[in-house]
Amino acid sequence: MKRLRSVSRHDLRVLAYHRVLESAEPVGFSFDTELISASAEGFRQQMLFLRKHFHPMRFDEVLACVDAGRPLPRGAVLVTFDDGYDDNYRVAFPILRELEMSAMFFVSTGHIDSGLPYAYDWLVHLVCMAPVERLQAPELGLDWDLGATLGERRARASALLDRIKTLDDAGQARLIARLEEEWRMPRENGHPDCRPMTWDQLREMHHAGMEIGSHGVGHRMLAKLPLEEMAKEVIGSKQALERELGVVPGVLSYPVGGPDAFDQETVDTVRTAGFRLACSYMAGTGNVVPATRYALPRLPVEREMDRAWFEAMVTVPEVFCYASKLRV
Ligand SMILES: [Zn+2]
Repeated sequence: MKRLRSVSRHDLRVLAYHRVLESAEPVGFSFDTELISASAEGFRQQMLFLRKHFHPMRFDEVLACVDAGRPLPRGAVLVTFDDGYDDNYRVAFPILRELEMSAMFFVSTGHIDSGLPYAYDWLVHLVCMAPVERLQAPELGLDWDLGATLGERRARASALLDRIKTLDDAGQARLIARLEEEWRMPRENGHPDCRPMTWDQLREMHHAGMEIGSHGVGHRMLAKLPLEEMAKEVIGSKQALERELGVVPGVLSYPVGGPDAFDQETVDTVRTAGFRLACSYMAGTGNVVPATRYALPRLPVEREMDRAWFEAMVTVPEVFCYASKLRV
């Protein structure tokens, strides 16, 4: 085990978080619980472990090493967050600041602009709270009893999320819009449990040493968009970050991030737009080499992981990391 550990420590570990909430089991929560990566206390313990046993880095430091042809330090690890939920500012940021650590926050800039909830998470909310008993979606060939308990509805919502991501972007948007209308639950209503951060919060985090990257504009699966719209998502998010933060973002993470979320055309667009690295949501570790530079694997952190599991996963990812069931 020791030898394996010493070998694997040369690989770059990129941890992937979504939400850190005060509690990992919030009562009456009607949004996607699979997006809760850790509780505040769990996250704090995880960061303490990284600081003690690994070498936490910033993306700009990693890029400087790569540019200079220097190997990364042993135990190099990066902490990333996807989407841009307000708990990143409220819960995770104070812990990072207290521990004098940095993290990369990949935000969908259109949501920061609008303050509107993320579409997939709103879909979970719709299914959990719909004032109806059945869900009919002929475009997916399904007609389901939604169930009576929140637990049953969560399971239905999770299955629906998997299914809807097989549609193209317009098909996904149409289905969500139809359910919002039929069930009279417009996204514009918003909800305190599903809020994006604001630009003021991101500026404060940026000034305090956090890195901010792109997660597209509207959190859309880039490979499922026509070329022109896909390019708008990539370039538009970069321009928004430049406009609001006054810096050129160097790194992007693909929304959803699985094998059907980006393709060679996406990678070419991201590279041409000036991004210097991009992260996928595929599980694993690896070094920044040409083959992976625009599809860096990451290690998803999920709320089911207890302390021992997290520490084992970071230490020996080859054995303990797994393909996330989450398609975000
Ligand atoms: Zn995402």
